[in-house]
Amino acid sequence: MSASGSRSRTSSEADRPAAEYHRFVVVLSGPSGAGKSSFVSDLLGRPLDLVYSVSATTRPRRPHEEEGRDYFFISRDEFRRRAAAGEFVEWAEVHGELYGTLRSQVDAALRAGKNVLLDIDVQGGRSVRTHYPDGVFIFVLPPSMESLEARLRKRGTDSEDRIHVRLQNARREMEMLGEYDYAVVNDDLAAAQKQVASIIVSESLRVARRAVRGAT
Ligand code: ADP
Ligand code: 5GP
Repeated sequence: MSASGSRSRTSSEADRPAAEYHRFVVVLSGPSGAGKSSFVSDLLGRPLDLVYSVSATTRPRRPHEEEGRDYFFISRDEFRRRAAAGEFVEWAEVHGELYGTLRSQVDAALRAGKNVLLDIDVQGGRSVRTHYPDGVFIFVLPPSMESLEARLRKRGTDSEDRIHVRLQNARREMEMLGEYDYAVVNDDLAAAQKQVASIIVSESLRVARRAVRGAT
C-alpha cells in the first residue's frame, strides 16, 4: 500500500465536522434484590458520562442510605403535593410505598449534556418509554427465585414481611421483561456489570444518536 493509499486521511475526512452524540436516558428495572443498586454504583464509577436521577420516595431511609444521594425521603403528603404540582416525570406505588422520578433531576442532567441513569420499577419504565422513546431499557434478572430470596435476606435491609411482598411482586415484574430492550442475568456480578456498561457504550455510539456539530 502506498503512502497515498486507503490508510491516509482524505481531505474530505479531515474537513468533516466533529460529531457528538445525543444524550439519552438509561432505565434499569428488575425485581427487588436483583442487583440494580449494585449496577448503579458500578456504572457511576465508569467514564460513561452518566448522572444518576435521584428519586423521591415515602419509604423509610435504610441505615446506609443518604438523603439526596440515594433518594429524597419525603412524607406522603409532600409526595402528593409534588405529584399534583407536576414535579414528577412518572410516579408509582411500589411494594406499598410511593416512588417518583423528579423532572428536575432528568432535565438538569440532559441539559448538562449527560446521559441519565434511572433505577425504577416496571410501571415507571413503561411510563418513561412514552416520554423518552429513544431511551435504553435494561432489565436485570436474578439467576433464580431462590437466589433472589437469599440476596434479599443477606442484604438485611427489609423485614420478613417486606421481603415477602417483594418476592410476591417479583414474578409479576418479571412478566414485563418483554417491554425491555436488554435482559441481563446478574449471576457473576462483575461479569454482569461489564455487560451493562457495554450496552450503554454501544447504545451511545448508535448512528441515530449522532449529531454533527457545525453542520448546517
Ligand atoms: P436491588 O437494587 O435490585 O434491590 P441490590 O443491588 O441491593 O438489589 O442487591 C441485593 C443484594 O444482593 C445486595 O446485598 C447485593 O450486595 C447482593 N448482590 C448483588 N448482585 C449479586 C451477585 N451477582 N451475587 C451475589 N450477591 C449479589
Ligand atoms: P427500593 O425500596 O428497594 O429502593 O426500591 C423499590 C423499587 O422501587 C425498585 O424496583 C426501584 O427500582 C423502584 N423505584 C425507585 N425509584 C423509583 C421511581 O422514581 N419511580 C418508580 N416507578 N420506581 C422507582
